[in-house]
Amino acid sequence: MQENILVTQSSMPPYEEYIEAIKPLWDTHWLTNMGQYHGQLEKELREYLDVPELSLMVNGHMSLEMAIQMMGFPEGAEVITTPFTFISTTHAIVRNGLKPIFCDIKLSDGTIDETKIEDLITEHTVAIVPVHVYGNICNVEAIQRIADKYDLRVIYDAAHAFGVKYKEKGIGCYGDASIFSFHATKVYNTIEGGAVTFSEHRYYEKLYNLKNFGIRNENLVAGVGANAKMNEFSAIMGLCNLKHVEEVREKRRHNYDCYMENLKEVKGIRFFKKNPEANSSYAYFPVIIEDEYKMSRNELYDHLRQHGIYSRKYFYPLTSDQACYKNKYKKLDLRNARNLAEKILVLPLYENLEKEGIKKIISLCI
Ligand SMILES: *Cc1c(COP(=O)(O)O)cnc(C)c1O
Repeated sequence: MQENILVTQSSMPPYEEYIEAIKPLWDTHWLTNMGQYHGQLEKELREYLDVPELSLMVNGHMSLEMAIQMMGFPEGAEVITTPFTFISTTHAIVRNGLKPIFCDIKLSDGTIDETKIEDLITEHTVAIVPVHVYGNICNVEAIQRIADKYDLRVIYDAAHAFGVKYKEKGIGCYGDASIFSFHATKVYNTIEGGAVTFSEHRYYEKLYNLKNFGIRNENLVAGVGANAKMNEFSAIMGLCNLKHVEEVREKRRHNYDCYMENLKEVKGIRFFKKNPEANSSYAYFPVIIEDEYKMSRNELYDHLRQHGIYSRKYFYPLTSDQACYKNKYKKLDLRNARNLAEKILVLPLYENLEKEGIKKIISLCI
């Protein structure tokens, strides 16, 4: 019996390496609250991601909530965003007491359609929250031009874009802030974890306060913060995984290229267009199942599943169409986003996915 192949598998460092690395914690008993490893990981990730400033968080979602919260927007203000994303993006806006204004996306790469943003701007608009979906980067220049013209903040959800560089700069350098997720299922993980990256140094203190209850000193709580600190076991996992991340990327790249080589000529399978000035995160292998394909997206999903292959319909349904938002946005013209949500399928991709596994998936697709 062959084992099932899931859409991803968490990266882990060699067991001995992690065990050795956590030993000092038994001497210091310092397990969290911005310890030594928290500081070290912030430094190493600043370098790896090529960003001037970075604040570690307990997960990607809280990174986004805090990044939005630190801007101090008025209650009920409007934030232009994409519905073609993980639910976290939309929740982070709503949980900040803000109103998501959904903008359609581009069929070519799944990112927000920058030409449709301006029409959605009102006197209540305060920010744009775009997503570098699957690591496909948004049109950061056009978005910045719009933001400058209307004095809006830009906060990127870069959860899929770990290690992506655009025009020789870390992708986390664009906009006012970007957030990354280091969840177990992402390219790089700290078990659970995340970070906010930004250029303005004053945001560091704001985020520090927000992630630590707003505590300023022993007797003073100066703000209404949350608890979103990364603990030392996670930080050490992050330090260990960071040592291997290039190796992991290389293996993922190999698997990615193998899929591409074998699927590129298949009638009815389409791929996203890559920006030639950005490198890939190799986070996902999304395919778009067009009408000319021999079966529908849902049929291919079932077909793979019957053979023990667990692909994912990322991102279907759109976040705007989810039950929690109670049909509020069903009538919006999000034709490209709806179209892609019906056709998208993410195939398994991880560094230890064996050649036989990939071959099997390819043979089921062609
Ligand atoms: C994973 C993910 C998040 C949330 O990150 P967590 O670390 O799981 O909280 C946010 N946005 C997108 C696009 C994601 O894929």
